[in-house]
Amino acid sequence: MKVALFQVKSYEGVEEKIREGIEAMGGISQFAKKGDKVLLKPNLLGFYRPERGITTHPSIVKAVARIVRECGATPIIADSPGMGISYTQCSLKKLYEVCGITMIEEAVLNYDTRTSKLGHFEIIRPVIDCNLIINIPKLKTHALTVLTGAVKNLYGLIPGLSKLSYHLTHRDTESFSRLLFELLEVIEKPQLAIVDGIIGMDGDGPMDGNLRNVGVIIISDTPILADLIALKIVGIPCSLLPGHKKRQDLLKSAELFGDPLSRLILKEPFILPKSIPSCEWLSFLKPLLTATPVIRKDCNGCGTCVNVCLQGAIRLEQGRASIEDRLCIRCYCCQESCPNQAIALKRSILYRFILRITKTRYYRIFEKIYHLTRFPINPFWGKVEDFKGRLWERLRCLRR
Ligand code: SF4
Ligand code: SF4
Repeated sequence: MKVALFQVKSYEGVEEKIREGIEAMGGISQFAKKGDKVLLKPNLLGFYRPERGITTHPSIVKAVARIVRECGATPIIADSPGMGISYTQCSLKKLYEVCGITMIEEAVLNYDTRTSKLGHFEIIRPVIDCNLIINIPKLKTHALTVLTGAVKNLYGLIPGLSKLSYHLTHRDTESFSRLLFELLEVIEKPQLAIVDGIIGMDGDGPMDGNLRNVGVIIISDTPILADLIALKIVGIPCSLLPGHKKRQDLLKSAELFGDPLSRLILKEPFILPKSIPSCEWLSFLKPLLTATPVIRKDCNGCGTCVNVCLQGAIRLEQGRASIEDRLCIRCYCCQESCPNQAIALKRSILYRFILRITKTRYYRIFEKIYHLTRFPINPFWGKVEDFKGRLWERLRCLRR
């Protein structure tokens, strides 16, 4: 398992580093040969121009397409946009135009909107037809999964509105993370991950956060490894991502190439989203602790969020959206889908209280409780210990 990382300050000249990284993996011929179909999967979350920093930058996708072409394979760019956008030829056309993908002459743009079954997942057709997937995520925070990197980017292979139904069955960070790893396993195609971390996003990602000049490109033959390295660079504890935490030992066997990791680690770590990673067996605490979606003044009543919320928690009232908190399961699909970024996350009173304490000397009391309590290891108390550890990491992150 290999990872190549490079400091890259701007999108100009990024191709050279991508070539160097792929060479470190053994060269593109290790992954694709003449006549193969190679699926390039950028993060095209919605109709956003590249300068917004929400979608994978087209310069990176173009560079990858050119490298794939050179080995005689056909690069096919495909993605299904985020919540609220249906998977139709019409929306794909608009998506490619707005995201700057149409300028990539080296690749074929996917307009085949047929879907197939892969395990229990409905999946877009190019996944079935391709020989290799090059996963090109954007490095961002995410309200539900904490980070959106290579593993989360695969969720875009589930077509359009089908994505929504999984939020009803996988409501918390833990079970949603399990779902993502199930998807990763079921795909069973060789993969190469190339993370666009030149401009990243922290705070309330994946679309309402702050742009950050992270200045890195991460290339790996193992998507989880690319994410684990990304977490180190942006200073997010792995313990906040349950699926990644279970696999963090992969780092020990990773071969690193390129610039030293220590040089790329951000001095100011990423600000976490206001939501809190939730745990399925303590779901009763969720309404008390997690952030609530709230409608801002900018809402123009377009109704996208109403269609996205399968809980029926959002209604339009006097030309504006309104959320019924009692019905909300904190899946944050509405926040991700609002085209006007008119849905913000608001921390709960209890969370704000805890946050305030973490900034005072009473924080030391928490620290003492944490270090003095050790729950006996058995299946139940092991979970308590695990959750406690995660909350503790979270508190430590709030202090910075
Ligand atoms: S909150 Fe956003 S998605 Fe919902 S109606 Fe308002 S503008 Fe549209
Ligand atoms: S209102 Fe609540 S349940 Fe509905 S989409 Fe938003 S976060 Fe999910």
